[in-house]
Amino acid sequence: MKRKKIVAGNWKMNMTLDQSIELSNLLINIKKPNVDIKVAPSFTNLYLLKKQFDFHQIDVIAQNVNQNSKGAFTGEVSVEMLKSIGVNCVIIGHSERRSIFGETDKILFEKVNYATSNNMNVIFCIGEELQQRDNGNYFDVIQKQLEIGVFGLSTYQIKKVTLAYEPVWAIGTGVTANPDQIQEIHQFIRNLIRERFNETISDLTRILYGGSVKPTNAKEIFNLADVDGGLIGGASLKFADFQSIVEAADV
Ligand code: PEP
Repeated sequence: MKRKKIVAGNWKMNMTLDQSIELSNLLINIKKPNVDIKVAPSFTNLYLLKKQFDFHQIDVIAQNVNQNSKGAFTGEVSVEMLKSIGVNCVIIGHSERRSIFGETDKILFEKVNYATSNNMNVIFCIGEELQQRDNGNYFDVIQKQLEIGVFGLSTYQIKKVTLAYEPVWAIGTGVTANPDQIQEIHQFIRNLIRERFNETISDLTRILYGGSVKPTNAKEIFNLADVDGGLIGGASLKFADFQSIVEAADV
């Protein structure tokens, strides 16, 4: 089954408005119709970048969203607000949201459930910590994150979800999981989706890898059977690196 690759850049809490404009002026030159290219700037830059990329290939997505429709949630942003500026995809469950901001599997399910039932696409991140990898119980960790986070969704909702396997020990560390480790988990995830949903959904679901993807390792990772692209942190802030990674996904 050939699935279209995704390369998504997560800019995290980087880039002022001017810096975002400067980088996006370069990014608009990337033309790779075989790849779904996404960038996730901070909330302050979303609207302008959405406009800037309007007639270009790049999809502008959000880094976070609240699980409630609206109300007294100071500092939060709703699905409706994102949709009102044309943003229709959001990253949920990034390990930084889990570990720094205390978002539990249950909260993350509420977010994914609310977003997908309101027609929003989601990149849902999962991944084990170093100690869990060393203990050898990383399969259980991944399975639990999926069971609580997305396996309660309907068939309609799961079709709106792209998964991103991001071993926490590889995020921002320069250490990349090796191809065998990556393929092993991606295949495990796809099998679980088949068991929970069905063959068609498991064939259609795109599973990204994230964790120190760079121009030098992107091709090897993207060529793995169950890897459908990457979620890119640090390297997405440098135009040349991001461009090379997009090119590596162009198969
Ligand atoms: C990330 O934060 O999702 C990520 C993969 O970061 P990096 O590419 O910097 O490891």
